[in-house]
Amino acid sequence: MELKDKIQKQLLKVKSPSRYIGGEFNSIVKDKSKVDVRFAFCFPDAYDVGMSHIGMKILYSLKNARENWWCERVFAPWPDYEALMRENDIPLYGLESLDPIKEFDFIGFTIQYELCYTNILNMLDLAGLPVPAAERSEDDPIVIAGGPCVCNPEPLCDFIDLFVIGEGEEANLELMELYEQMKKSGEYTKQSFLERAAQIGGIYVPSFYDVSYKEDGRIESVVPNRAGVPEKVTKRIIADFDKVFYPEKFVIPFSEIVHDRSVVEVLRGCIRGCRFCQAGFIYRPFREKRADTILKEAKCLCSSSGYEELSLASLSTSDHYDIEGVLSKMTGYTEGERINLALPSMRIDRFNKELMEQLSKVRKSGLTFAPEAGTARLRDVINKNLTEDEIMSACRTAFEGGYAGVKLYFMLGLPTETDEDIIGIADLAKRIADLYFNMKDRPRGQKLSISISCATFVPKPFTPFQFEPQISVDEINRRQKLLLDCVKGKRYINVSYHNYKISVLEAALAKGDRRQGAVIKRAWELGCKFDGWDELYNFDAWMQAFADTNTDIEFYSHRGSAYDEQMPWEHLDYMVTKEFLIRENKKAHEGIATRNCREGCSGCGVNKAAGKECFAEEKSGALTSPVPAQATAEVPHGEPLANKKPVRVFFEKKGRAVYISHLDLLRAMQRALKRSELPVWYSEGFNPRIYLNFPLALSLGVEGTREPMDFYIVEDISFEEIVSRLNGELPEGLCAVGAAAPVHLNKEIGFAEYTLTYSGSMADVKAAIDSFMAQEKIEVEKRSKKKGMITVDIKPYVEIKGVSEGDSVYVDIRLPAGLELNLNAAIFTDAFAAYCAENNVKAELICAKRTNILCADGSAFE
Ligand code: SF4
Repeated sequence: MELKDKIQKQLLKVKSPSRYIGGEFNSIVKDKSKVDVRFAFCFPDAYDVGMSHIGMKILYSLKNARENWWCERVFAPWPDYEALMRENDIPLYGLESLDPIKEFDFIGFTIQYELCYTNILNMLDLAGLPVPAAERSEDDPIVIAGGPCVCNPEPLCDFIDLFVIGEGEEANLELMELYEQMKKSGEYTKQSFLERAAQIGGIYVPSFYDVSYKEDGRIESVVPNRAGVPEKVTKRIIADFDKVFYPEKFVIPFSEIVHDRSVVEVLRGCIRGCRFCQAGFIYRPFREKRADTILKEAKCLCSSSGYEELSLASLSTSDHYDIEGVLSKMTGYTEGERINLALPSMRIDRFNKELMEQLSKVRKSGLTFAPEAGTARLRDVINKNLTEDEIMSACRTAFEGGYAGVKLYFMLGLPTETDEDIIGIADLAKRIADLYFNMKDRPRGQKLSISISCATFVPKPFTPFQFEPQISVDEINRRQKLLLDCVKGKRYINVSYHNYKISVLEAALAKGDRRQGAVIKRAWELGCKFDGWDELYNFDAWMQAFADTNTDIEFYSHRGSAYDEQMPWEHLDYMVTKEFLIRENKKAHEGIATRNCREGCSGCGVNKAAGKECFAEEKSGALTSPVPAQATAEVPHGEPLANKKPVRVFFEKKGRAVYISHLDLLRAMQRALKRSELPVWYSEGFNPRIYLNFPLALSLGVEGTREPMDFYIVEDISFEEIVSRLNGELPEGLCAVGAAAPVHLNKEIGFAEYTLTYSGSMADVKAAIDSFMAQEKIEVEKRSKKKGMITVDIKPYVEIKGVSEGDSVYVDIRLPAGLELNLNAAIFTDAFAAYCAENNVKAELICAKRTNILCADGSAFE
């Protein structure tokens, strides 16, 4: 059986099967006979998380821009599907080709979070590859990894052939070019490739370095074990961020994902220097795109995606030098297109009335701020540079603007934290509440809600707090309880915590060294995976793994380091000097804040390493010079209609699209209509949406040949034009086959006809159908909206229209459908499958297809 068939056989048994079949709009399928290098881009977490990741979107498009390279997406299968994959010998495969990734040239992981390390091992194993790099053969793919976590890649060195240190846009291409050239010239061996790759800037081949340890367990040295390998590997950065490649299209998932929207990366790096924040240091220097570039990329993505939300993403978007200019240009566009604009990382001190009004123009989303610490003293320690007045002023602006709730992020266990600082979090929330209750013009008819979300401090490499210990588990527990006690009785203050047992492991892995490879492998053998997911995290198994490998977790997570200790990651150069980190750490303990980079340089060293003054473009005015406007194709418009006009489109649903649920279909169609720029009618009210109605929902797993879908148009446009424009925007497996004015009302639907395709012999299937239907009763369990689960005898309602033979055996049936009694095909096929199993009849359902929808009088539903 082909792998594709094996996969499809299992999909209806799992939650959200569309995550595992590909075929999404804008996904890239190539002819593999014309491809020289195949790359499996693996995200070691669930599809919903990975598909939201901006780096994956960038590198996927960038690699696929080369005609003879093919980059495919791969995600960690959720345990329900993983179990079926293992049971049925389905290896890990690329979503575009459905080919096993073991056949690819590269397997590349992007590592965003320490808690996905076991997923990396699991994915290698599911691919059918040995997990340790040393055990993989010459013919196995090169396994590479990049992303923020590889600033300390040491715990993963046993499993990965090479790491890309820093920004991946250029280094990835150079690696693949080298590989292609070595393969074509016949020079390729894995070892020679790794040796040549190690010469590329930002490439770290861990097997080329030896680590020695002191007696007390600390690192003695990390040194190259061969000539021609750099002593320190310096991270890669993109010099001209305004011109860096950015995708024109995103793959549009069928199912809902964590961040389901268009995203433009407006800047990289951060001017702030919060001392706990790893991203703020490893992504230095600060670089911005000009406002025109941001607008151009946003327009392009919104029109190619059909998304109704656009996010301006970065570590601190409101720090863009021209954020007001960006927003005024952007809202002019988003308002007209009914697109909601989101600024996910906004500083409280940059929040003002104008910003809020710009953001609430289409839809009002919640407001989230991150004071991180409850007292001014601790905010100075962490270099948050935020006063209480600024926090109160932002909240006042929000309340005046009609918001009745704010979400505030804090961290517990920060260096130097005392009980006073924890009580300070509660006091701050109470003062915000007082502010609200004392405002005469506060929003009426809404309940105040102040949500406090508390993470546990995790010391991270390349930050001034890399030297700090994490507080003990008991102490974290005590501090969490203290905060809860402080807000007791305040119903409008809600406190939530991240699981601190996850943070303890995160700290250990973040500060880990090569010896932790054994712990990670043992934890994976003990069944650990998806460790960042509360419901799947198994703290006890991890503790067992540390014990089994004689590794002390306290040594990594709860031990502070002296300034002169050699850290496991010091052979990597992230351009921020250790001297600067020490200086900042000392200032933290003295409670002294550091000004932000725009106010003045504090000498972190990045400018020297990068050979370029920070903010050079901003200061020279280069970012403000206009970008020539691009001509955009005119979309044909019809005459505006006095009244909206109903349209019924009939469409086909087959192939990979069979695995998308009704809700996913609704979303896919709304986005296709948005991309088509057809003059469709939007619902009115707070959240305007494209109005769309499906007269008879089609069940997951069932094909449809002529499915109706209704909407309205507001301009006079022909039905042919509607079909043609819609078809230009539909994903694989969906196709409009006609459009007309609706003739019948939904309530006139009386029946639906299906063709069921079975394996087995005609004689067996026919005999089984006859004897099945000859039973006195055919009782099935059915969910009723009003009565819950009920037992129904379906025999009187099933009409067998015929059994015929072709490549397989086809059973045509008619079932009641519509408002009165609706029986979907699965009710019949499940009952018949059970009957066949009981009677040892070999008849396996291959496919169910809805062929007709009929009115109660038997005429076609039009
Ligand atoms: S070199 Fe100066 S301005 Fe540039 S990132 Fe470092 S501290 Fe900031």
